[in-house]
Amino acid sequence: MVLNAIGAPLVLVERPNPSPGPGEIRVRVEACGVCRTDLHVVDGELPNPKLPIVPGHEVVGIVDAVGPGVDTPVPGTRVGIPWLGRTCGHCPYCSSGRENLCDDPIFTGYTRDGGFATHVLADAAYAFPISSDDPVSSAPLMCAGLIGWRSLSFAGEARSIGLYGFGAAAHILAQVCRWQVRETYAFTRAGDDAAQKLALSLGAHWAGSSDEMPPQPLDAAIIFAPVGALVPKALIAVRKGGRVICGGIHMSDIPQFPYNILWNERQLVSVANLTRRDASEFLGVASMAGVKTVTTVYPLERANEALADLRAGRFQGAAVLVP
Ligand SMILES: [Zn+2]
Ligand SMILES: [Zn+2]
Repeated sequence: MVLNAIGAPLVLVERPNPSPGPGEIRVRVEACGVCRTDLHVVDGELPNPKLPIVPGHEVVGIVDAVGPGVDTPVPGTRVGIPWLGRTCGHCPYCSSGRENLCDDPIFTGYTRDGGFATHVLADAAYAFPISSDDPVSSAPLMCAGLIGWRSLSFAGEARSIGLYGFGAAAHILAQVCRWQVRETYAFTRAGDDAAQKLALSLGAHWAGSSDEMPPQPLDAAIIFAPVGALVPKALIAVRKGGRVICGGIHMSDIPQFPYNILWNERQLVSVANLTRRDASEFLGVASMAGVKTVTTVYPLERANEALADLRAGRFQGAAVLVP
């Protein structure tokens, strides 16, 4: 399913299966999650996508061919392919353990063709073995889960954590937090009873609208919804010294706010991309925590419908495309 121009619907096209080059693997896609970042790509909210592009960066599938120099993974292995497709390995960020900020990266489904397809190429060194035998429920872990995990690492030792926007990322993170015996507070669009109910069923301590204040000040808040107006709201909801973490790759403008809601050593930070270390840590945690994703499956050729439903908030949890 190909995006030929910003804002256009994806188009089903038939291409020959690609051949893996040196260091690459070819994966037969079993499932690919649909992420809000795919909407940002389609809508042109991220600069300079490769066009035409096959979106999709929550890929799970089976290695079916390997290029020269690839020892692992071997053909037949189930792997996950995330957003971080390749890094340069020598810029100041790569050299200091922050490859998520690499100066010259490749991103799956944005600057290299992704998983809204039957087959996809990936760098062997940036694919991760998936031990689960359920590719559909594993797919959302590859971005929603990973970005949630990286966001949570920025919350440090916080015990009470607000989650603004209870979609794919938050519904995974709530389960991780429950396993870690942290309290989560789920904030949804006003009147989104279904999302609030889902949050409570996954262990959230409290669920309400983002216009409400939590019953007590929070240690940290993570904003997944791409809504800048949530930033001042979250700053008001966290205690002195608390941290507000923006987990999205794109957000509408943040409205002006008075300094006193930031004062008292509150911090406002953003999280970008992922490192391979995040991925291997998180996949282990997800398995130990017994994370179960809530998914809505669409056949690959109905990718446009999945994107529209994500935009309108018409399903709970995560949408997953299956070829
Ligand atoms: Zn780099
Ligand atoms: Zn994503």
